Amino acid sequence: MAVPQQKKSKAKRDSRRAQHDKITLPNVSICTNCGADVLSHRACPECGYYNGRQVIAVKVAEVEEFDEVGEA
Ligand SMILES: [Zn+2]
Repeated sequence: MAVPQQKKSKAKRDSRRAQHDKITLPNVSICTNCGADVLSHRACPECGYYNGRQVIAVKVAEVEEFDEVGEA
């Protein structure tokens, strides 16, 4: 079995890992309907639009109104 002649330094190891083990941000574009951030080739999670038309139904968030609690 082939054995490395010398132990690779931490700098060598880390610079190797920096080439392809780095964390990258996903490609984000802007929804043409509502302007939210959307992943490419995915329907908008905010309005359900894709390619200019509604493709998925999105639940409309209910706005709860809080009445002031009457003093006793
Ligand atoms: Zn949208």
